[in-house]
Amino acid sequence: MSNERSPRRGVLLIVASPSGAGKTSLCRRLMADHGGLELSVSMTTRGIRPGEVHGRDYNFVGHDEFQRLIDEDAFLEWADVHGNRYGSPRGPVDKALAEGRDVLFDIDWQGARDVAEKCPEDAVRVFILPPSLEELRRRLVTRSQDADDVIERRVANAKGEIEHCDAFDYVLVNEDFDRSYAELAHIYHAERSRRFRNLWVGDYKAALLNEAV
Ligand code: 5GP
Repeated sequence: MSNERSPRRGVLLIVASPSGAGKTSLCRRLMADHGGLELSVSMTTRGIRPGEVHGRDYNFVGHDEFQRLIDEDAFLEWADVHGNRYGSPRGPVDKALAEGRDVLFDIDWQGARDVAEKCPEDAVRVFILPPSLEELRRRLVTRSQDADDVIERRVANAKGEIEHCDAFDYVLVNEDFDRSYAELAHIYHAERSRRFRNLWVGDYKAALLNEAV
């Protein structure tokens, strides 16, 4: 990507959506295409699903361990989502920001709100909307990772999540994966190019202005 100069201030790119809107696939592709973008691997008390890998998709922990981490203030944010607890560990995010690297968060609207409150300059919030709730249900059934009652709970919860999209900086409707991906990548590239994140510009400009011509 262009603008690989340093020092720079990292982007905290937060992608939220109801489950089944395609957020995780969009995030995976963004990571695959941008080696410098690092995923914030959340901790969760939910059980592991088929195909998930501990340490890659989540760090799966028990309730006691999660509570211990809350007490130690180890989370940048945490929330109850669909009856389980999820949290973004603070350490890797602080380290990435100090080093000018970008972090991607695949979290819910509560987490997006809390990260934006704590890091107002760095956070960029993108909300992914499904084309319809019917399509959302179809995608959840097709991916067949959840039991029927869990799917119905997620569809019912989707309305509550969609309510919060007004607080986001960007909103995409994921009708066509490739088009939504292009839009997400454009948002990321534009945010990276913002002047205040590119701390190298001052010296660069001075050098240009001092150039003998
Ligand atoms: P799932 O159980 O389908 O993996 O995730 C359920 C919801 O929790 C998704 O919207 C997901 O983005 C969100 N989530 C995952 N990790 C975190 C986290 O660390 N914090 C918050 N607030 N939400 C999370």
